[in-house]
Amino acid sequence: MKQLNTDVVIIAGGPAGLAAAITAGERGLKSVILEKSSTTGGAANMGMGPLGIGTKIQKDQFNDISVADALDLHMNYTHFQVDSDLVATYFGKSAETIEWLQEMGVEFAGAFRYFRESEATWHIVKPENGVIGPRAASAMVKIMTERAKELGCEILLETPAKSLIVENDKVCGAVAADKSGETLEVRGQAVIVCTGGFGNNKEMIKQEFGLNLAEDFFPFMIPGITGDGLRMMWAVGAKKWGANIEAIYQIPDNLNWFLLDAVLRQPNLMVNQNGERFMNEGYMGNTTFAGNALHLQPGNYGYCIMDRGILREYQKNGPDIMDIVHPAEAFFGFDQQAAQALEQGYEAYFEAETIEELAEQLGIDPDVLQDTVDQYNEYCRCGVDSQFHKDQKFLHEITGKGHYIVGKFYLGAYGTVGGVRINKYCEVLNDDLLPIEGLYSAGSDANTIYGDSYNFTLPGNTMGFAINSGRMAGESVADYIADLEG
Ligand SMILES: Cc1cc2nc3c(=O)[nH]c(=O)nc-3n(C[C@H](O)[C@H](O)[C@H](O)COP(=O)(O)OP(=O)(O)OC[C@H]3O[C@@H](n4cnc5c(N)ncnc54)[C@H](O)[C@@H]3O)c2cc1C
Repeated sequence: MKQLNTDVVIIAGGPAGLAAAITAGERGLKSVILEKSSTTGGAANMGMGPLGIGTKIQKDQFNDISVADALDLHMNYTHFQVDSDLVATYFGKSAETIEWLQEMGVEFAGAFRYFRESEATWHIVKPENGVIGPRAASAMVKIMTERAKELGCEILLETPAKSLIVENDKVCGAVAADKSGETLEVRGQAVIVCTGGFGNNKEMIKQEFGLNLAEDFFPFMIPGITGDGLRMMWAVGAKKWGANIEAIYQIPDNLNWFLLDAVLRQPNLMVNQNGERFMNEGYMGNTTFAGNALHLQPGNYGYCIMDRGILREYQKNGPDIMDIVHPAEAFFGFDQQAAQALEQGYEAYFEAETIEELAEQLGIDPDVLQDTVDQYNEYCRCGVDSQFHKDQKFLHEITGKGHYIVGKFYLGAYGTVGGVRINKYCEVLNDDLLPIEGLYSAGSDANTIYGDSYNFTLPGNTMGFAINSGRMAGESVADYIADLEG
């Protein structure tokens, strides 16, 4: 068995682990990151950027929001079911964290809203290829990785941690398997666990949420994010607490059918498998709200129905709901991708000439679907949705012009959040809510700040929590080690 000694053992090199390593390095501590995959960055490589509140970037864009306002908004949104002190510490640090990232060379394209009703807290990283969109934050990951190494962090890739070492009631290291499968023991004064939740663990998702991965629930299944860190922390007495999904909605395999997903998620007529409408589709811009509404339907899915007449209007005048992830340009590639989907028999896209034909394809009673469409079109003609009061500007009659075009949208998620309880020092708490000595956690494993639903009105929130809590954990560990050394 190989052995290594360091000051701080960090389990995983996602944004939380990297932020913790840099912070420990800034305080003169050496660290070892044990990372399961062949690269650093975890889920953040797919994302666009972290939250910042009260940043200079926001002020320059006249889009500033204060920490006081954001805290008030968030605590009201969560009905005070989450730790105010943890949220306040994170929000209060977030502006300085954006500058901290800038100082190490990260550039931001600006501070953005995700949808109209959200705040402009999403600090999107200027991407290497210049095009703002998915994966922009991978440029930040590279810079953070280099900075961590510069400050003396040793990053061991393809080295999954397996368990924590506890001696004299203190967590003081981890056992891992190195690239060749040989057991490696890394010891330090403290351990920070940040393995990103369990968004890709079928059994845990079934057990914790009753959902069936890739059957009635379609999260981004990031390889390797399987709850390892949570299981290790629970095994040494961490309180099992607050696990949830970071709910969104999407068509299955959406990265391969991105243009269909972009167009068909516009706020037209959405029905469930019983042919019934079930929400004010005007809220579809808040992907957590729409995900929650889908979760209440049979099979956790719904069909979003429109036609090419509406598509042509979107191409001419822009979509009803604008967002940065699905930009208006996507609407011009739709027809080509739709043809491909039909040719390849993609299971979540449908086209039909008549409602009857559509009902048959969807397996919905044709009379019920016809009634729902007729009723909806009546609302569109009068300009009043007397069922859900959707804004008149989203009421476009669905006539089937150029074919009905339909996407089957499922409950999805970026991943999971939560599972252990931490305090504002990122100390992991036991069942008595007392810190387990030497054990810290950050990022999605420890993110219990949303209550029942991700707060999309402050976008950039999970990557923001990951980086800020990583910093908070690094600082707390440095203080703890300084105290130990007297
Ligand atoms: C498509 C997509 C887009 C997103 N966009 C955004 C966005 O723009 N803004 C935002 O705020 N959030 C976004 N998110 C969410 C955000 O990326 C995550 O909240 C964030 O990356 C969590 O950071 P983390 O460090 O906690 O964990 P992760 O980034 O999930 O990293 C976890 C790491 O743990 C490693 N690991 C797992 N098990 C072990 C083990 N046993 N030993 C060692 N290592 C292990 C994994 O390999 C991985 O590298 C997005 C997510 C996805 C999927």
